[in-house]
Amino acid sequence: MVPGVRRLTATNPSPMTGEGTQSYLVGAGDLVVVDPGPDDAGHLDRIVDASGGRIRYVVVTHAHDDHAPGARSLARRTGALVLGPPAGGAYAPDAVLADADVVAVPGWRLTALHTPGHAPEHLCYLLDTEREGSGFVEGGHRPRPEVAVVESAGPRLLFSGDHLLFSGDHLLGGASTVVAPPEGDMAAYLASLERLLRLDPGIDAVAPGHGPLLAGARAVIVAQLAHRAERERQVVAALERSPYATSAGLATTVYGDLDPGLVPAARLQVWAHLRKLATEGRARSTDPDDPGGSWDAV
Ligand SMILES: [Zn+2]
Repeated sequence: MVPGVRRLTATNPSPMTGEGTQSYLVGAGDLVVVDPGPDDAGHLDRIVDASGGRIRYVVVTHAHDDHAPGARSLARRTGALVLGPPAGGAYAPDAVLADADVVAVPGWRLTALHTPGHAPEHLCYLLDTEREGSGFVEGGHRPRPEVAVVESAGPRLLFSGDHLLFSGDHLLGGASTVVAPPEGDMAAYLASLERLLRLDPGIDAVAPGHGPLLAGARAVIVAQLAHRAERERQVVAALERSPYATSAGLATTVYGDLDPGLVPAARLQVWAHLRKLATEGRARSTDPDDPGGSWDAV
């Protein structure tokens, strides 16, 4: 078995990044790096060492500081091209990718999927293989490709299966992603999750930007949709009990006691739900664009 994907974890742990950003090396000759992470020399050294210097493309899921700023440094060191969403912050691509664009190295193919919600320009990448000898045969049956993911430091096999989704911050391992307005959009986030469920062939596993690999992708996405629906019900219930509430006040009701480091994110989640409810005519605010605005149920 030729390992197709290697995972390297950046050394930027925090309440918001888990054990650190997950960078992935894809391929078995010329390589693609998915999300180089922060511009951290030690982490980039490990990526370059693991690659044998054969990085052809650096693809980025979104421009946030824990995912993208290493891209330009890595490109300078390896001659790779940086591909991904439009420039933002400390990130600038050589070419912008759009939905359905394909990045390929021999035997491996990454298809960009526009998945707005966490960030408006967020891209996930769906990986499949085109092994020698595979392809369509009589009757239209295609031998099933197989992708293996190993821990670069190990190597320890993490996953072996077919279609793997690099999800950036759209889906996380062991946590729910932050949907923080005004950049984050809860309605768009849910629509992007539902789109992933409709993909044919379906996704087998998710390689997230933070946290462990997620097997059983369909169940993971369904659970995330259910979690968000439950959170929305909690926000509506809290709003009905507390007229003229702020998102900060509602967050205390909905989330209870939280690690202080997570309180700002919790308030933003509630605000994201309120803005979604406002577009549906179920909540109103003096100013939906004001994070400190007061809200009422309709
Ligand atoms: Zn992010």
